[in-house]
Amino acid sequence: MKQVKQLLLEILLFILIVLIQTQLLAQSSPEEKFLDSLISKMTLQEKIGQLVQWNGSNPEGEKRLRNGGIGSFLNIRNRDEINRLQKIAVEETRLGIPLIIGNDVIHGYHTTFPIPLASAASWNPELVKKAARIAAYEAIENGTHWTFAPMVDIARDPRWGRIAEGFGEDPWLGSMMAKASVEGFQGENLADERSIAACAKHYVAYGAAIAGMDYNTVDISERTLREVYLPPFHAAINAGIATLMSAFNDLNGIPASSNYFTLTQILRHEWGFDGFVVSDYNSIGELVYHRVAADKSQAALEAIRAGVDMDLVGDTITGNVYSPNLERLVNKKEISEEIINESVRRVLRIKYRLGLFQNPYSTNQYSGEETLPDAEKKRIALQLARESIVLLKNENNILPLKKDVKSIVVIGPLANNRDEMLGTWTCEPVINNVVTILEGIRWKVPAGTKVHYVKGCEITGNGRNEIDKAVRVAKDMDVVVLVVGESKSMSGEAASRAELDLPGVQQELVQKIHATGTPVVVVLINGRPLTVNWISENIPGVVEAWFLGDQAGNAVADVLFGDYNPSGKLPVTFPRSVGQIPIYYSHKSTGRPFNPHNKFTTKYIDSPVTPLYPFGYGLSYTKFVYSNVKVNPSQTHLNENIIVSVDITNSGRMEGSEVAQLYLRDRVASVTRPLKELKGFQKTELKPGEIRTIAFTIIPDMLSFYNINMKKIIEPGMFDVMVGGNSEDVISASFELVQ
Ligand code: BGC
Repeated sequence: MKQVKQLLLEILLFILIVLIQTQLLAQSSPEEKFLDSLISKMTLQEKIGQLVQWNGSNPEGEKRLRNGGIGSFLNIRNRDEINRLQKIAVEETRLGIPLIIGNDVIHGYHTTFPIPLASAASWNPELVKKAARIAAYEAIENGTHWTFAPMVDIARDPRWGRIAEGFGEDPWLGSMMAKASVEGFQGENLADERSIAACAKHYVAYGAAIAGMDYNTVDISERTLREVYLPPFHAAINAGIATLMSAFNDLNGIPASSNYFTLTQILRHEWGFDGFVVSDYNSIGELVYHRVAADKSQAALEAIRAGVDMDLVGDTITGNVYSPNLERLVNKKEISEEIINESVRRVLRIKYRLGLFQNPYSTNQYSGEETLPDAEKKRIALQLARESIVLLKNENNILPLKKDVKSIVVIGPLANNRDEMLGTWTCEPVINNVVTILEGIRWKVPAGTKVHYVKGCEITGNGRNEIDKAVRVAKDMDVVVLVVGESKSMSGEAASRAELDLPGVQQELVQKIHATGTPVVVVLINGRPLTVNWISENIPGVVEAWFLGDQAGNAVADVLFGDYNPSGKLPVTFPRSVGQIPIYYSHKSTGRPFNPHNKFTTKYIDSPVTPLYPFGYGLSYTKFVYSNVKVNPSQTHLNENIIVSVDITNSGRMEGSEVAQLYLRDRVASVTRPLKELKGFQKTELKPGEIRTIAFTIIPDMLSFYNINMKKIIEPGMFDVMVGGNSEDVISASFELVQ
């Protein structure tokens, strides 16, 4: 007993020493010294000013800025204007604290890349990182220091329009993409002249909105929160992200923007995040509408106490929520000035790390290896667009098309529309740089090939005038490329849908063109999974092309004509019907696992349980065969790594890339666990006939989960390892963990 006490004492002493040392180290770092000294000079009003973000450049904002009342602006994208405001901040305010300028640089600044959901289909984090790097270059040249990206909300409900802005349904893939985006935006170091601060949003669980309706309530267990929705945020923090944005939704009864548990306990205490949290657009003011605050003053109190550091524009009529209320709350002793100091410190810390105190102004004069020619930007945009395309169906090898086919007609409301290719959330796109699908096809085929175009119908609405014309032209052609889907405004913020079919009369157009008997390839343009059952059953070639940005037409043409062998894989499950939602691969077994021969099992009486297309799915023009999966060692201890190897053979006739996916299953655990969870993937290029052995390392953390007390643990027992080209077609092996 005495010995145990002694040991405990020693451990306590050790912890104390480490704590004191870290504290001393922090205090003595130049960064903290600088912040201490600056904060000690600031008045309370100046401190609150640093917590206020103003929307756009306008006389009221400028007046407040001169009085030290604003620390940040958003939605200004003109370098001269930004530098003018910065000059006021630096030269005309009492302490000369620089502004930080934020903008939504979501998938590109000028050069527009595929929407995030599409880029997740590339399963190529390196490429996603390069795209984010280019976006950062273009943003900083135009005065932006900070992007409200990446959006890392896991989304399992395609009714939710914002599914387009994130990386899909899976926490592992989402975490890899989150990390890549942060590394791309922020570079090696925030202080690099071409780095911008990133912002992981929307913290947290915004994607779990009930019924897929934007801004709606979220009610999920802490287990689901920790296992599904938090990991991409944690990955972003581990990658060094500078800021987070608190979400609009309420979460288990507490709004995300006044949630001490997520904003302080998890974020600060568990994860040690030292950057700052900005609210979403008026999400502090909206605490009043959530009815957890009687008025804006209480809203300010709840938000700052929970850990929201900066108020992203309040009510534009009455002004921000923090600016008119925090001072009074401090004076009335409802909050201590220490809380304000802490938030100010976090904001100033990021300004310091960005080097804004040394170099507050923006220039387009960057030098050395950091300059990127337009051709390189285009190359990355094209490559990411190609790799984002998913081949959904290719019956009788209708694809790739022969380039010397005599006649093609390109039909559909999305076939020749530049603006629509850009998708939701564009920044400052160059519309003339966008290549439509019709243009891409025209440039691809030889002069002798006739390429016709008929729009056919609008994206929405009932106009049928052109359908007959499209049918007439299609009859005489060798092949039809039919480009249908959603408009860009049908996904993104405030764009939830209750139906996931093709809008307008597009379905009718597809059916009538199909009836002509001319071979048809459908190219889908959309920001979410669509319930395209009829197309999937009846049309021989189906290509998922999302919103691919500038290079949409070139990338689609490359795939259609075989200059690029498609390699994209779905980052989200495609349902057969809205009734199946939420449908995702990593579901639990249930006590009555699905059995087609037993009524009393987990299923529907009027629909299959399977999706239209599973997570991870995507075809190639060649064929990849998996064999010889091995686990080494097959029995091991809880703290050791395990190597999984598998052979992949390209048994087709074309060179191609395959995304090999590793899934794990804990056979028996103390709490219910998913049937399978993605824990690794590798994209590998194989020549025809080539066989390659690839290996994955399973580290102990991949086997962990939250137990009944919400403690992360690993339990001994049997684990299944599954490897394959999608979440359903896998080959497996197993291993045993022993104590
Ligand atoms: C969106 C955020 C965005 C912010 C600033 C909000 O409406 O939810 O994603 O970053 O506006 O534009």
